[in-house]
Amino acid sequence: MKHIVEILNADITKITVDAIVNAANNSLTGGGGVDGAIHHAAGPQLREYCITLKGCATGKAKITPGFNLPAKFVIHAVGPVWNNGTGDEEKLLALCYQNSLQLAVENNIKTIAFPCISTGAYRFPFDKAAAIALTTIDAFLKNNPSIEKVYLVVFGEKDHKNYERILNRFYP
Ligand code: ADP
Repeated sequence: MKHIVEILNADITKITVDAIVNAANNSLTGGGGVDGAIHHAAGPQLREYCITLKGCATGKAKITPGFNLPAKFVIHAVGPVWNNGTGDEEKLLALCYQNSLQLAVENNIKTIAFPCISTGAYRFPFDKAAAIALTTIDAFLKNNPSIEKVYLVVFGEKDHKNYERILNRFYP
């Protein structure tokens, strides 16, 4: 699966793929970080659409159009807030990736870009989150050949180097 998964140091709102994933909150009505950037770039129609979805549980995902984004769809996944691993955070983070990819398959999405969910305001340790992302994506791709490309998008050189190191350990 090594050739399908690629790390990019970029602003996820600028990437032309079938779908970008948003690290959303339970309300789905917008927030800070990557969520704020996606809503800003997509335009106010995204928020109007999201309001009709009536929120999303942690670990689950919902799909919307991309509106003014280059991406056709946004998959809004709600990551867990890190609480020292006491609240099933690892399992919930894995479910975010799994449920997002499941929605992608159901919507004929072949190229998808993920931010590193929960590693910003939600304080999930980056290395742990990246390893969960890679493990979950790899397992999913083995059973779902319709997905052609998965970009793992990081924001900044430190996270980029970290993610590359974890990827190289994962796919030696
Ligand atoms: P969460 O609340 O799930 O932690 P954040 O948006 O605070 O979500 O952070 C998630 C990750 O997204 C962090 O690693 C952060 O560096 C990254 N990030 C923030 N803005 C962007 C962006 N425009 N494109 C890609 N990644 C981003």
